[in-house]
Amino acid sequence: MARARLALLPAILAFCRCRLLGKRLKSRADLERYQQKRLRHWLKRDVPRVAAYAGDRVQNLTDLPVISKAELMTAFHRYNRLNLTAGAGWAHFAAKTQPDGFYIGASTGTSGNRGLYVISDAERAAWLGTMLAKALPRFPFERARVAIVLAQDAALYRQPGRGGLITLRFFDLNEGLASLPDRLEAYRPDTIVAPPKVLRHLAGLARSYAVKRLFSGAEVMDQTDRQAIRAGFGVEPGEIYMATEGLFAVTCPQGRLHLAEDVMHFHFEPGPEGSGLVIPVISDFSRKTQIMARYRMNDLLRLSDRPCACGSPLRVVEEVVGRADDLLDFPSDTRGLVTVTPDVIRNAVLDASRDIQDFRAEQTGENRLRVLLPDDLPQAAVEAVRQALTRLFARLEIAPDVIIERCHLEPPLEKLRRVRRLFTGGA
Ligand SMILES: [Zn+2]
Repeated sequence: MARARLALLPAILAFCRCRLLGKRLKSRADLERYQQKRLRHWLKRDVPRVAAYAGDRVQNLTDLPVISKAELMTAFHRYNRLNLTAGAGWAHFAAKTQPDGFYIGASTGTSGNRGLYVISDAERAAWLGTMLAKALPRFPFERARVAIVLAQDAALYRQPGRGGLITLRFFDLNEGLASLPDRLEAYRPDTIVAPPKVLRHLAGLARSYAVKRLFSGAEVMDQTDRQAIRAGFGVEPGEIYMATEGLFAVTCPQGRLHLAEDVMHFHFEPGPEGSGLVIPVISDFSRKTQIMARYRMNDLLRLSDRPCACGSPLRVVEEVVGRADDLLDFPSDTRGLVTVTPDVIRNAVLDASRDIQDFRAEQTGENRLRVLLPDDLPQAAVEAVRQALTRLFARLEIAPDVIIERCHLEPPLEKLRRVRRLFTGGA
């Protein structure tokens, strides 16, 4: 209890800082100046305190190598101040224990691909304060009763708690989706943050509480999810783009997703040729316990060139497209190996028929795509999907075997990825 109360201060400070910066940083030049100042301080004071960068005199961010998740995980202890090894971290995680004053968490995902992270209680609280500052633009002039539904990291959100102008409660998805509507109804939130599959499930049920704000988090929100959520709640859902690596972007009151460049520096590597997509490389200058410097994420983003009407200089993301390891590659007689990004498959399937509310598309072999469609989908829609994919693949000069199956589609407990690469051979 005492710990939860102590952590309130960094949450409030982060909240206030985020709001002040929102007022102070009016242009890209303001923002970049601020980032450079924070980065200089971080590179001098915090980065050299982990083994990976100890002894380096780093002047510029670009002096550091870009690192991948695999590199970070194989030398985990070298990137955190506690010298905590990945083995020790996983042991804590499995036993649900924590080093005093710190929190160890992990991303959901397949066992070989899970990410581990360690943050201090103060950093965790600051993260929450920043998120609330961005997600609740009218707070503290309007009360908020926030429900956060996530499949993991219960303790990450177990503060600042109840009372006063803001009430916050965490709902653990591991306790089951079936009991969630009743638990939410008893709490009566006006703001819900949840994975899109959960919001969509809730949208289909008539519930008595009135929701003012919805945020999808932790997964890609497809158009089909957005429409179902909007129709069910009568509220346009925003997005909180976050992962174990931090808080990356939050939707503004104008409905556009802004990068959290006030707490993190973003650099972009080009995605697959011709896709117009980018892969973010982040440097989180607000975190000291675990250093994330020039860390290449596994995500594919479509950035926007259009500034936002809200006036924020924070860059706008048009769409979080999916994961970089869900790029599909099919052989072409004329073009070698052709990379197809998840959004291209998704759009082809969803645009084929209005009847399609859900699907999965998986590359299961070198030249094979399996498409799963709901078992109650009319045959005409199934045919429309087949034709849409045939047209798409002809245009791309590829010809994978397309196997379409109808089945009962359930949202998985882990992250929902509608387009996935299961075939691990080849490129
Ligand atoms: Zn905006």
